[in-house]
Amino acid sequence: MTPPAAPPRGAEKGLSKERQARGAAPMEGEEAVVAMKEMAGTAGKAVLLKTEIPGPKSRALMERRQKAVPRGVFNVTPIFAARAQGSRIEDVDGNVYIDFAGGIGVMNVGHGQPAVIEAAREQLGRFTHTCFSVAMYEPYIALAEALNRVTPGAFAKKSMFFNSGAEAVENAIKVARAATGRPAVICFEDAFHGRTLLTLTLTSKIVPYKKDFGPFAPEIYRVPYAYCYRCSYNLKYPECNIACADALHDVFKRYVDPSRVAALVVEPILGEGGFVTPPEGYLRRLHEICRQEGILLIADEVQTGFGRTGRMFACEHYGVEPDLLVSAKSLAAGLPLSAVTGRAELMDQPIAGGLGGTYAGNPVACAAALEAVRLLESDGLLDRARRIGEETRRRFRAMAEKHRLIGEVRGIGAMNALELVKDRATREPAKDEAGAVSKYCFEHGLLTITAGTHGNILRTLMPLTITDEELAEGLGILEQGIASAC
Ligand code: PMP
Repeated sequence: MTPPAAPPRGAEKGLSKERQARGAAPMEGEEAVVAMKEMAGTAGKAVLLKTEIPGPKSRALMERRQKAVPRGVFNVTPIFAARAQGSRIEDVDGNVYIDFAGGIGVMNVGHGQPAVIEAAREQLGRFTHTCFSVAMYEPYIALAEALNRVTPGAFAKKSMFFNSGAEAVENAIKVARAATGRPAVICFEDAFHGRTLLTLTLTSKIVPYKKDFGPFAPEIYRVPYAYCYRCSYNLKYPECNIACADALHDVFKRYVDPSRVAALVVEPILGEGGFVTPPEGYLRRLHEICRQEGILLIADEVQTGFGRTGRMFACEHYGVEPDLLVSAKSLAAGLPLSAVTGRAELMDQPIAGGLGGTYAGNPVACAAALEAVRLLESDGLLDRARRIGEETRRRFRAMAEKHRLIGEVRGIGAMNALELVKDRATREPAKDEAGAVSKYCFEHGLLTITAGTHGNILRTLMPLTITDEELAEGLGILEQGIASAC
């Protein structure tokens, strides 16, 4: 099986008006469809396992990997990809898997989207890099305009670009410090914001992320998140009156003077922390308290953004318009790109030359992102995310009725999780069982990833282009995995 050839040119399908007007060579998605059909299992199934898993070619590459790449660079499966299309990944041995991981939330528009690939290809042909600081380029500006438009809030905004989620979080904090003249940052238990020194300080899990890597950055303060299933205050929503948000007042008394706090950094739904979905009112209360104290709200939408939750950004579900919004992952459909979008007057506070980077806002990534954002806006993918979510949670709830291993089903849109527990009364986390389910799924052709501080949460990050049949097949494997671990 050979990789798909360069797409044929001619059809208008899949191209933005803007790119057609620029004379962009249009393409047809037919090759992709052919590739998808080729990449299919037997009897109408997507999964196709031809060899033992991992197969001989993956095993050989693994040997080379172990000699050439440090063990700290983690891999959750032992396979090597040969190509990917839609919601399927084919490994070097010809085995085809359904992808419920989406490259950790990066592939919302699906693998091999023709319009995205064509936009990137076209930009590759023009130039790959000038450095935005040396010779600027239009795709960067167009993407900034697009993000200023699609992010929550009708106020004047500006956007800037970086390479990774972590780099964008760091830069949002630089803007907040410059704009407020204050040093401190408040973050949350079970948060994940990245692996650079400052973002690792904000991240809340020791093993494997922080172990042996200190000392960490100063002036970071942490409060519990609205993790209702494991409430830090042993309270119940709604009687609790969202006491966990008011815990900020306590922090201001005990740990840090609020007039020294630049920003509060929050994931509207915890990603790595286990898809913890806060109750209505929580984010708004946090924002109110921030406003009272002149603290900026930075929403880290790296994992929740670009349609994952059925809205373009998760903050929209909670009626919150953050001062600064960080995005990455599905922004550029797999090309490395991240963004900070924020109130124009804040974004303009750092001095000229204070922000940037050699590769920040790479033109190929910007061109791909423009198409990815256009697809999310126009191709019914937000509706699709909602429908995927309804079906996933329906199946999850049915599984929970049968299997006591499932402690909680939660999520919004296509961002859903199962929290596994050894005992529903004590809620003791079932980490080993989550690992066993994930392993079962992998061995049966479904790629999944776990999450949570206790590693006991199974999460779904499938491309939003997944078909009903692929979704049903994947959920079926997951259910068998749960049954086998019970
Ligand atoms: N913030 C959140 C919410 C994330 O989920 C991640 C990555 N999982 C990051 C930041 C860091 O992004 P990156 O790995 O691109 O640095």
